[in-house]
Amino acid sequence: MRIKKKIITANKNLTSEMFYTAVEQAGDAIFIAGKNGIIEYVNPAFEKLTGYKKSEAIGKTPRIVNSGHQPVSYYKKLWSTILSGAVFRATVVNKKKSGELFYADHTIAPIKNLKGEVTNFVAIWRDITKSKELEKRKDDFISVASHELKTPITAIKAYSELLKKHLEKTGDIKNSYILSKILLKISSLTRLMDQLLDVSRIEEGRLSLDKRKFDLDELIGKLIIDFQYVFNANEVVKIGNINKKVCGDEGRISQVLTNLVTNAIKYSHSNKKILIKVADEKTHAVICVIDEGVGIPKNKGSKIFERFYRISNSNSSGFGLGLYISSEIIKLHGGKMWVESNKGRGSSFYFTLPYK
Ligand code: ADP
Repeated sequence: MRIKKKIITANKNLTSEMFYTAVEQAGDAIFIAGKNGIIEYVNPAFEKLTGYKKSEAIGKTPRIVNSGHQPVSYYKKLWSTILSGAVFRATVVNKKKSGELFYADHTIAPIKNLKGEVTNFVAIWRDITKSKELEKRKDDFISVASHELKTPITAIKAYSELLKKHLEKTGDIKNSYILSKILLKISSLTRLMDQLLDVSRIEEGRLSLDKRKFDLDELIGKLIIDFQYVFNANEVVKIGNINKKVCGDEGRISQVLTNLVTNAIKYSHSNKKILIKVADEKTHAVICVIDEGVGIPKNKGSKIFERFYRISNSNSSGFGLGLYISSEIIKLHGGKMWVESNKGRGSSFYFTLPYK
């Protein structure tokens, strides 16, 4: 109360006309509605964005811009949040008077009287249609480019392997060595193509899982043998057993584990041990990949799961897609993924996998 009084005193020169001018001149669409949802005020930016004049919007409810794109659960959450006195934020798709759709970052806040009762709501829509369209164009480009490049790259790889075998047979060591370098680059290109294809599948909701019961302990055992063959400088050790079958897409879970172990090795010094810890938590298994590598700064802990995000001082090769794809695969299984890390002291990447 004393703080509120202080603000009022400090701002005693600010009149309600000043606030009115600020709202009228704002670039974002703003409207005020009563507790019953009936619109009582709209600013000029609202008229410009929606195409509805003040006289057409006042007295109606925000349903006039309803595009049908938001599920019923969205409105339930919105009303329960604002009626409890809290601020609600979301990205929505609305419809203009002309029928055209627009994307908006939507903030709706309750206005309370002196008794603390909610009397009105103020809503702000920031038009983000242009950036959404750009994002869509970028996604479409990624999808087309990765599909179109996949076939020629697969053919180049097959012919190069054939040629390498031939050169080895004829004893042409120098050219065979050059070709093995080319094949290495092709592998990294193939990996990028596969990751881009997965990103498109995720964005379009097309990443489907072939879920079956499988033995997680056995899968990790098999992967460790492969890891030791490829990365012989770092020992990979499994700790614990689940002794239970999990339900999931074995190929995709193997992809997640391979990504986490590859990262653990990539961001560690050689000769450091990598641990894969498994634990049974009644309804789900918890899997943790632990390294003693460079670690991750605290403020980057959630960012690394965003697509194309790489920590700026990462001097290893990569595209910033592996963790994004892995966490989406785990989400599709009904699990979650997170990291605990100390910069300079290593990282532990966790994920859960439900049994059913
Ligand atoms: P990539 O490794 O291909 O760049 P990822 O999505 O797998 O992409 O990882 C994103 C970023 O997270 C990496 O660029 C790196 O900075 C950081 N990171 C991932 N795993 C680790 C790890 N085990 N230790 C330290 N940093 C990591």
